[in-house]
Amino acid sequence: MGYAMDPALVEIERKVEAGVSLGMDDGLALYRTADLHNLGRIARAQKERKSGKNVFYVLNRYINSTNVCYANCKFCSFAADEFKEKDRVFRMTADQVFEKALETGTNFNQLHIVGGHDPRQLSLDYWLPLMRRFKDALPHVQLSLFTAAEIDYMAKRHRMSYPEIIAQLKEAGLDNVNGGGAEIFAEETRAKICANKVNSENWLEIHEELHRQGVASNATMLYGHIESLEDRVDHLLRLRASQERSPGFNAFIPLAFHPDGNELNDCGWTGGLDDIRTFAVARLMLDNFDHIKAYWMIQGIKICQVALEFGADDMDGTHGSTDEEMIYHSAGTQSGQYVDDREFRRLIEAVGYTPVRRNSTYDEFPYDWSPVEQELIHA
Ligand code: SF4
Repeated sequence: MGYAMDPALVEIERKVEAGVSLGMDDGLALYRTADLHNLGRIARAQKERKSGKNVFYVLNRYINSTNVCYANCKFCSFAADEFKEKDRVFRMTADQVFEKALETGTNFNQLHIVGGHDPRQLSLDYWLPLMRRFKDALPHVQLSLFTAAEIDYMAKRHRMSYPEIIAQLKEAGLDNVNGGGAEIFAEETRAKICANKVNSENWLEIHEELHRQGVASNATMLYGHIESLEDRVDHLLRLRASQERSPGFNAFIPLAFHPDGNELNDCGWTGGLDDIRTFAVARLMLDNFDHIKAYWMIQGIKICQVALEFGADDMDGTHGSTDEEMIYHSAGTQSGQYVDDREFRRLIEAVGYTPVRRNSTYDEFPYDWSPVEQELIHA
């Protein structure tokens, strides 16, 4: 005996196939349906309309440049107080960042760096020469630096407008801005979890200005803490409207809240079903985003493989074999730090997809591409 498809999904599937954007009620219905089979099927069909059987990954390096931060977000286990937690604080010099990026060779296409709101490190004096040094030494590597929260902080420090600071960062080689800092846009909830960080309107304005100046970016949503389902769908609707106003988001990345060592510990861990539902809802709500990323370090490799059946088409980066991600690892993730690129492709092929190597802006590369050996001009 078969079973009937959830009637709410019948109507939603009709809209998706007709290219009609979904609204708040549709998003809530997708989150609440018990019909996971059809939820996955509809999201997967939408993914295949966008990227066929391809699933993307990038050979990259990942660096947290400092954990000094004055924002005091309630969900954060990474930031350290410069005066009270002296044994935990670190702040890399520009030379250390440069050397760390090159520690395991030059065969990578993206350098991903994120840090805290540190008054001593987040300055143009620190970053502009370092970015130029990277561009001279590694012209094949795209710089995926900062989040909108860091750019907002840096703009305030320098008393510059967003267009002014972005123009300087772009001139020095910024290719892509990471999606962090979005958290959850709904103001009431945001005020409870990250009151001192860039507000929602400015987060969106920074990304729209980046796109106007030709710098790509990603978007995220932190879910699984105190937010409501309405907050989540509202977040996706605001991202879709922003992409409509000023296109330039490459990918959306759902970030599952991790509870270890932070003030929202009582919220606990997200469930696997909530994780895969969130990928499917994102794929269906964000019809003007090309890519939905399942970041293996956050949800774990096996959930990410399932997410590929629920609309995701990217597994993000290999990282370097000596890289050390600290934001999620200090909050309790059990994922490792690095996946060999052959293993990455095998994990994608094991669930029936075609692995495609990319850079930050989704230019494609043969899997065995490597940079011509170059002299490191400023090494
Ligand atoms: S999430 Fe980012 S901005 Fe917030 S406290 Fe942690 S490091 Fe600082």
